[in-house]
Amino acid sequence: MTVQTTERYCPICGKPGTDPAYNRFGELACSDAHAEEFAKEVRDQKVRAHAAAGPDQRLPRQMSGG
Ligand SMILES: [Zn+2]
Repeated sequence: MTVQTTERYCPICGKPGTDPAYNRFGELACSDAHAEEFAKEVRDQKVRAHAAAGPDQRLPRQMSGG
């Protein structure tokens, strides 16, 4: 049988979250503080992932001469 679990746990401390107001990116935090903390972390990760895949690929310098 398919049982839809609506139970969510705070991504910060692991407590069960019950208030949909603290839903951030599909994760239900236990409190406003943790919801904010998680949102910040996700944003941070996105920024870092973006930076890692960003246009930081410098072409190797063409060394001429010798
Ligand atoms: Zn929490």
